[in-house]
Amino acid sequence: MSDRSRDRSAECTEPPLAVPLSLGEIVENGLCIGCGLCRSLAAPQEIEMIMTPEGRLRPIARTALSHSTLTRINAVCPGTRIAGPPPSQTAAAALNDTVWGPAERLSLGFSGDPAVRFQASSGGVLTALGQFLLTSGRVNFVLHVSASQTAPMRSERRLSFDAASVLEGAGSRYGPVAPLEDFSEVLTRGEPFALIAKPCDITAVRNLARHDPRVDELMRYALTFACGGASDLSKSEQVLQRFGLTEDELALFRYRGYGNPGLNRIETKDGRAFQLTYRQLWEDEDKWMIQPRCKICPDAIGQVADIVATDAWLNGGPAVDDEALNGIMVRTVRGLELFDAAVAAGALAIKRETSFVELGELQSHQTRKRRAVWARLKGIEIAGKPVPVVTDLALEDCARQNTLTGNLAEGRGARDRAKRGRLGEPRPVLRGEAVKGGCP
Ligand SMILES: Cc1cc2nc3c(=O)[nH]c(=O)nc-3n(C[C@H](O)[C@H](O)[C@H](O)COP(=O)(O)OP(=O)(O)OC[C@H]3O[C@@H](n4cnc5c(N)ncnc54)[C@H](O)[C@@H]3O)c2cc1C
Ligand code: SF4
Ligand code: SF4
Repeated sequence: MSDRSRDRSAECTEPPLAVPLSLGEIVENGLCIGCGLCRSLAAPQEIEMIMTPEGRLRPIARTALSHSTLTRINAVCPGTRIAGPPPSQTAAAALNDTVWGPAERLSLGFSGDPAVRFQASSGGVLTALGQFLLTSGRVNFVLHVSASQTAPMRSERRLSFDAASVLEGAGSRYGPVAPLEDFSEVLTRGEPFALIAKPCDITAVRNLARHDPRVDELMRYALTFACGGASDLSKSEQVLQRFGLTEDELALFRYRGYGNPGLNRIETKDGRAFQLTYRQLWEDEDKWMIQPRCKICPDAIGQVADIVATDAWLNGGPAVDDEALNGIMVRTVRGLELFDAAVAAGALAIKRETSFVELGELQSHQTRKRRAVWARLKGIEIAGKPVPVVTDLALEDCARQNTLTGNLAEGRGARDRAKRGRLGEPRPVLRGEAVKGGCP
């Protein structure tokens, strides 16, 4: 076991961070998801987010980072530290489940606005809540993501100040995006806001909240979705290759939406259109190109968000145009107050209540991952590689729901893959740039 990994247990209550990992170590050990928070915390010229040849957004240090900067990054990075909800919240929650975490309420529902329902990913709950937060005056803006204005296959962070702009960001963006790359500037605005982002992005911001009081003061709500993993840009590039297209021809690249789940739709500047069904897009699991960090994700179900929206395909899986519907996990008391107000205002409509059992059936891949992660992290640790410090996420209890044989298989598999370097990543370089420069 390496010195670093000796300092890091897969789950402990008082996480030590005596030896901070360098940025390169975080990335090359497959712990980075490209959220951009480290870039935002460093001085302007110190860290740059680049698109790597693999199609991942990764931070690269342009100057040598000081020990204190690295310590700060290690304390907030969702690749090095992943904390669940405070035990007091979990203990007081109306509902609680080892795998699914705490909740105040579990419902199936959708946006009250048919236009939002149609355009959004599933049932439009996240877009509806983002819009309601603005129209009700609870926040001044929403930080979320949308397709890039200039390169439609890429995604970028977006600040929305009105409901129309929130709607423009509706729909899932499966490729890389760094929603937190200028989070320090977002805080400097000094205005109340809400964040809609992936569970790992919320983890990053909650980490920062322990060091910067402005986060809890200004970020009034954190909304997320259940997340099966973010794919490399190369996944989207494969779709272009299938149709013989190049990125500079594109006028639109939508992964889904305009129906539930709707079609992966591509339009070119010269007026041609191409489509794949959701099943066609994801039919071959070997070509999902999910980022390494996702394979050890201890909280892809947003335990630290206020509200989580999920897919809810009641007929067993996605067709092309299912009923517009979300599973809704209201995690916190603050989230419940928002949820009730949004329902009362007609922004959200409720189909019926649901349960952790039903959500587990609808999201069986999430249950499997929650039960597998403890053994995977142990295997990686045994291989001498660094793992994130994970707290308050009941990983060991989730693993106890597996058989001993199952845990051994997960642990040994992860250990062997880690030893062969298959859970890591190459040193990040800019696409098209020869290997050069870069500081730890
Ligand atoms: C990478 C990824 C993996 C997913 N995996 C699952 C899964 O395993 N199970 C499941 O139930 N659902 C999954 N979803 C979520 C699902 O696709 C829907 O987004 C969710 O059901 C919410 O639906 P909605 O209609 O309320 O969303 P919408 O109303 O369309 O709102 C979606 C919101 O998410 C934001 N967003 C989209 N993509 C990203 C991104 N990459 N990073 C940060 N924010 C983003 C948008 O800005 C928008 O505000 C995934 C989504 C993504 C992006
Ligand atoms: S996960 Fe985010 S904070 Fe951590 S190294 Fe990657 S970009 Fe930086
Ligand atoms: S699976 Fe986890 S690490 Fe991967 S994008 Fe989703 S929340 Fe982030």
